[in-house]
Amino acid sequence: MNFYDIHEIRQLLLTNGFHFSKAKGQNFLTERWVPERIVEEAKINSNDYVLEIGPGIGTLTAQIAASAKKVLSIELDRRLIPILNITLADFDNVEIIQGDILKTNLVQLVQQHLCLENTSVCANLPYNITSPLLSFLTESRLFRNMTVMVQREVAQRICAKPLTSAYGAFSIYINYYTEPRILFDVPPSCFIPQPKVFSSVVSLSRRDTLPNVEDEKLFFKLVRAAFSQRRKTLINSLMPAVQNSIEKSKLTDIIKECGFDEKIRGEALGIKEFAILTKKLKDIL
Ligand code: SAM
Repeated sequence: MNFYDIHEIRQLLLTNGFHFSKAKGQNFLTERWVPERIVEEAKINSNDYVLEIGPGIGTLTAQIAASAKKVLSIELDRRLIPILNITLADFDNVEIIQGDILKTNLVQLVQQHLCLENTSVCANLPYNITSPLLSFLTESRLFRNMTVMVQREVAQRICAKPLTSAYGAFSIYINYYTEPRILFDVPPSCFIPQPKVFSSVVSLSRRDTLPNVEDEKLFFKLVRAAFSQRRKTLINSLMPAVQNSIEKSKLTDIIKECGFDEKIRGEALGIKEFAILTKKLKDIL
């Protein structure tokens, strides 16, 4: 199978009665350099176990399989399974499971089909579920590295720094669990059908030591509240989340004790600053 011959791909899809589903985020790669570069950047070698989400017709899967010890690919769309059985027939280190990645028990999946000590993720993610999927994968802390393609705008949000418009609760969430890095951009012309926007490949390296946060639940509650109304000051954004337990004047004192200006906005704070605030508030709330 030549994954990069558009006519061959169209014929394969036609023969199998396949139509693209927008709801399943189906944009398949058609340019050789993209999967090649993804696998090169992921530094996958013959000892590595890899989880792929959404193999499509197997373009990236084949590229990963050529370097890895084993690839497990989870594909939601039943119609793609017979196609994958044809396109990946030559690989004896690929396993395909039909299912919804968000409904799987990740620990069990990795334990039974891959390797708990040495599994990474490599995938061109379905755009419609990118944020919940990235949260699901990072929070599990099972993967030492994830090399994933996402919409460029999502990549920018993940890697955004404080005081930029892309910076938000999601940036903090992903940075809490991983060290993210944008590797390269991919134009719409590299897919069928072509998406409306650019994509980016990002690397998320697991933090083996999480940031020093005393109460994780409260930390994320404060982060969400701080970004829920971006135009407001930190104090005004936090009030709805804390008002049953604390007066505004007291909250103002605490913000100042943390060393922050009382007019500061949530978007100026990084993980360290939210950790300081959490520490101050945890005994009061
Ligand atoms: N890897 C292929 C490529 O690069 O050409 C296809 C990538 S396409 C962007 C996303 C794939 O994810 C599709 O094959 C889609 O059917 C699959 N998918 C969508 N939602 C999924 C889910 N919840 N679980 C597993 N696969 C899913």
